[in-house]
Amino acid sequence: MSASWVRTWLRACAALVHERSAWLTELDAAIGDGDHGINLDRGFALVVARLGLDGEDGAGGAPDLPGDALLREAGRVILGSVGGASGALYGRALQRAGAALADGGAAVPAEHDRVVVVPADPGGEAPAVARALGAAVDGIAALGRSAPGDKTMLDALVPAAVSLRASVVAGQELGVALDLAADAAERGAEATIPLVARRGRASYLGERSAGHLDPGAASSALLVRALAVTWSRG
Ligand code: ADP
Ligand code: MG
Repeated sequence: MSASWVRTWLRACAALVHERSAWLTELDAAIGDGDHGINLDRGFALVVARLGLDGEDGAGGAPDLPGDALLREAGRVILGSVGGASGALYGRALQRAGAALADGGAAVPAEHDRVVVVPADPGGEAPAVARALGAAVDGIAALGRSAPGDKTMLDALVPAAVSLRASVVAGQELGVALDLAADAAERGAEATIPLVARRGRASYLGERSAGHLDPGAASSALLVRALAVTWSRG
């Protein structure tokens, strides 16, 4: 991922999360503690400020950092500023994505059960993005000890990563591949509604968590959609 795409993506994430912050918080109020939108909004706004992405063209601030370093830095800011489960999980995901871009995937610890394995590839942007998303998903699954079906962000992210990997293997053009991945994330998020939560705060509700969209799956779908809408503008 080029540095300019990463910058554009992070700004788009901040804008989308800001726009949907009240909705995300409402979702979290139903089955959690009502802070998801507020937390993410503050975190991504800080990413934009600290990485100097608020300049006219997104340059400035950390202009010389390559894409992988920008992702790791964004992860550090999210980890340090977003409270709750999602701060730790998204922070870790961004750091893993950056590490995967930097070294071709070798940074994903072999001892972890990988949810999505994207083999190291000789090159190309599409495989790199698929590897980065796969590494992000693996990072969340390992830290959260969670899996698809637990009613978490993984219910949006795993279908997205699986779809992206399949598209890449099929030689699909990246723009189309990312649109399909974003569609898969949105379907995956919707599919959390009937689920009973097995991880995070919502799991304290037991059966009463069913009938509600998971806030983390909803925000994850926004972040994947942001990838699809920004890639060609990178
Ligand atoms: P908190 O629950 O600590 O207030 P947030 O409200 O910011 O944190 O985020 C809640 C979201 O985090 C949930 O909707 C869920 O998607 C995600 N989440 C919580 N625990 C886990 C976990 N162990 N693995 C994956 N995702 C999780
Ligand atoms: Mg919460």
